[in-house]
Amino acid sequence: MRFRRSGNSGLVLPELSLGLWHNFGDTDSFATARDMIRYAFDSGITHFDLANNYGPLPGSAEETFGRILKKDFEGLRHEMVISTKAGHEMWPGPYGDGSSRKYLIESCNESLKRMGLEYVDIFYTHRYDPNTPLEETASALETIYKQGKAIYIGISKYPPFAADVILSYLKEARIPVIIHQLKYSMLVREPEKEILGYNKEHGMGTITFSPLAQGLLTDKYVDGIPADSRAAKSHGFLKKEEVAPEMSKVIALKEIALKRGQTIAQMAISWQLYNDRVTSVLIGASRVQQIAENLKALDNIAFSGEEIELIDRITL
Ligand code: NDP
Repeated sequence: MRFRRSGNSGLVLPELSLGLWHNFGDTDSFATARDMIRYAFDSGITHFDLANNYGPLPGSAEETFGRILKKDFEGLRHEMVISTKAGHEMWPGPYGDGSSRKYLIESCNESLKRMGLEYVDIFYTHRYDPNTPLEETASALETIYKQGKAIYIGISKYPPFAADVILSYLKEARIPVIIHQLKYSMLVREPEKEILGYNKEHGMGTITFSPLAQGLLTDKYVDGIPADSRAAKSHGFLKKEEVAPEMSKVIALKEIALKRGQTIAQMAISWQLYNDRVTSVLIGASRVQQIAENLKALDNIAFSGEEIELIDRITL
């Protein structure tokens, strides 16, 4: 595994990280979840990304992860970078959503309990909440950090004007915000306009989520929607109707991938790592073989100018 420094911080992250958004909940196989975490760690994936609401049920991915840590990772906590977040709907009632001080602090405590941890490495504000003053959100992050419940602070999906306030508040409190989590893939190019540059300029690393566009950037959907895929699941976040419109691009990308000796998924990950503004590519997986396939992307992250141009022509 190669590691990249997250912005101007001292923390390095593996080029590939594993997220537990799907496939680690109550409704999923514990044995498969356990195999995936063990395989990832043994392959050098030291970073695992969670959030309070990952499941289903919300919270169950953190519980699953806590059980796996207890079974298999005793004595290894210091070798792992574990993150969690709060910001999206987690529990019913007025305090389980948004980015208020009340919600973030309560939620962080609950996340730690579920995972059986005393601290996470990175605690994120999961999203900008227009109903909460940004200074209030920042003050909650300050408290969590100063209580030793998070080693670092991160932000997720923040527009620059909102990130500015969080960054300047925490700078005054001498708390570096070391990372920004963004949706970025060959099919989602928006971050190239501004936010990738913003992160670099402000000394933050960038960790990209849904790099395979939730599975669209693989060849699994080329001949339809397989029964065991995310798009087929009622609780999956990839909707059936989102599949077909992207397939002509995916088929065109496959030709380039084949010439490079890669699968589409591998090329989609390599393409991100070709960009030195990306610190780590945060993948999801439903089985060990996918992690194995995706790890091979790291073997070839060089692209010719011609390849980049072709990819842009297909995807932009
Ligand atoms: P991806 O785009 O990597 O999609 C992962 C899914 O693609 C897998 O679950 C699997 O789905 C399919 N897949 C992966 N590899 C292969 C392969 N080699 N061949 C075929 N299919 C494959 O990422 P996610 O959308 O899962 O997001 C990754 C992580 O990012 C999350 O777990 C979470 O930690 C983070 N995230 C953060 C957000 C935020 O708001 N900050 C929002 C969303 C995600 P299948 O079930 O079909 O097999």
